[in-house]
Amino acid sequence: MRVLAFGAHPDDVEFRCAGTLKKYADRGDEIFIAIATNGNIGSFRMSKEEIAEVRHKEAQNAADMLGAKLFWMGVDDEFLFDTKETRLMFIDVVRQAKPDVIFAPPYYRDYNPDHDITGYLAFIARVNASIKLIETEHEAHTKVPPMFFAAPFGISNTFTPEYFVDITEQAQFKMDMFLCHASQQGAWCKDAFGVNYAEIMDRENKALAATCGTPGVDSVEAFMLCKTWPIIAGAYKLLP
Ligand SMILES: [Zn+2]
Repeated sequence: MRVLAFGAHPDDVEFRCAGTLKKYADRGDEIFIAIATNGNIGSFRMSKEEIAEVRHKEAQNAADMLGAKLFWMGVDDEFLFDTKETRLMFIDVVRQAKPDVIFAPPYYRDYNPDHDITGYLAFIARVNASIKLIETEHEAHTKVPPMFFAAPFGISNTFTPEYFVDITEQAQFKMDMFLCHASQQGAWCKDAFGVNYAEIMDRENKALAATCGTPGVDSVEAFMLCKTWPIIAGAYKLLP
């Protein structure tokens, strides 16, 4: 199977669904990670160009841990918009990855516009990648795959988890992959926002596990199915 995960920023995919991706990878599925923005505002010390380069390398290292192919779209951080150009970029990623299932942030449910717009552009590309007369560098995808929205940062009161993936055994791998994004761990997130994202990620996955109440399940990632046309019966069976 081919699995494509979209993230707005480098480290978003790790935060939301790296445990689930690890389960796919371990059973031999092909993984593709697409990052819309270049993370070029994520530093107090470096220039935009320097931090973007660092974050590209960190994202590549994280993708390498999974054996995933990385698509680096390179849009300026915090300035992702729904335009003809970005729609075509997302469509072309889908056409190259040829996914059987897509993961993306939910649109219009988060604190960060890049997350929402990434979810929306993925939602558009899911269908439009299969339309031949929308021309990009690559051939149209042969199907419209199901798409799952991954729980947003802070879980959010507008996101109602529907499907739960037990990542108890993958939690340490997920953390290691997340920590590949070393530039974001100390001086940026902690000093800028007073938060430790790694701790929050772990806490949210444990909180989701607690809602399941299944003995032995300590860490969980949660998803909602995109339920617009075309609805694919039994799509949940594609979750690992
Ligand atoms: Zn983000």
